[in-house]
Amino acid sequence: MKRREFLKTAAIAGAGAIVASCGFNAARKESGNQSGNQSEDLSGNQSGSRPVEAPNINTLPTDAVMRLSFEPYELQLAHTFTVSSNSRKTTPDVQLRIDYGGYTGYGEASMPPYLGHSVDSVCSFLSKVNLEQFHDPFCIEDIIAYVDSLSDGDAPAKAAVDIALHDLVGKIIGQPLYRIWGYDRAKAGDTTFTIGIDSPEVVKVKTLECAGKFNILKVKVGLDNDKEMIETIRSITDLPIAVDANQGWKNKLEALNEILWLHSQGVVMVEQPMPVTMIDDIAWLTERSPIPIFADEAVQRLSDIHAVKGAYSGINIKLMKCTGLLEARKMLTYARAEGMKVMIGCMTETSCAVTAAAHLSPAVDFSDLDGNLLITNDRFEGMVVRQGRMVLPDGPGLGLKVL
Ligand code: MG
Repeated sequence: MKRREFLKTAAIAGAGAIVASCGFNAARKESGNQSGNQSEDLSGNQSGSRPVEAPNINTLPTDAVMRLSFEPYELQLAHTFTVSSNSRKTTPDVQLRIDYGGYTGYGEASMPPYLGHSVDSVCSFLSKVNLEQFHDPFCIEDIIAYVDSLSDGDAPAKAAVDIALHDLVGKIIGQPLYRIWGYDRAKAGDTTFTIGIDSPEVVKVKTLECAGKFNILKVKVGLDNDKEMIETIRSITDLPIAVDANQGWKNKLEALNEILWLHSQGVVMVEQPMPVTMIDDIAWLTERSPIPIFADEAVQRLSDIHAVKGAYSGINIKLMKCTGLLEARKMLTYARAEGMKVMIGCMTETSCAVTAAAHLSPAVDFSDLDGNLLITNDRFEGMVVRQGRMVLPDGPGLGLKVL
């Protein structure tokens, strides 16, 4: 049996009766493009639509081609965002879709300026991607290997293609990604919510706003006012706190003293305490730290994990760094095999990329997936946070709705 046929047959056999509910995919195909103001469930589920029989995905047109399209989309931030290296009020972004046989997969590239990517660089890369040479979206390994081969960098642009491809395949199978991967939706867990660096007055207001909505907070440290930030938050709430120094500490003894104090304040983990190049000092720190230390800037892709093994307690996987879900899942497996902890993070993104990352959340130790909550012009509804916990959508693929 050919691989494609096997995958499809196995998916249908394994999914059983639930696959029957993907009849709305057929409804979408039958009705063609929807127009007007009606909010569209990307699985095609329109309110009031009649149930239809499940599609036979083995009958997809064999001559179907994948058509990729994309457009710039500037993300508007609710608050000015400050890390130890810069401040900003918008984030450049590119929205992408892949159309194939009546199905649409959605993807996204988000480019925080400090990472060196831009709308121009992403669009330039994507204009080189020719998916029309592939006729089977289930050959994700081959397709992503081809996309990756087009340049050495361009991780966000590659992630956009990867996310859309996974969304597309999930929709064709008629199952959400977490289910296809064998994860338990109920284990999605809490997400941290970031309190940006600001004056004590503003930090108090922000903390009050989110203390009742989240179960763990995140604070950017590494500037001069770290203690003031933590003490201000502690004057409002006892919630556990994750901190991200973004390489801000330069001396290992001072960093250890900071971490010991932070631990005494209920901080439960530290992300990228010192510059990436100071790996021996970070290893020294990790050995002595009472709380786990995660590599973020130090680990972009799968091939970076080997070098940080033993120096950090764990790694922070972000789709925009690692080129997408396919590589993210490989990183997760490798890190686990090396006994490392794993967190899943994001940039400021719409619910498209955040939800893609959230589908991995049942398998990680920490989720830092609040990027969609920091913008005011989200285009999608996907993973939502209820009482601090992430609720994964159960529609096929990413399970997104277009807003
Ligand atoms: Mg970080």
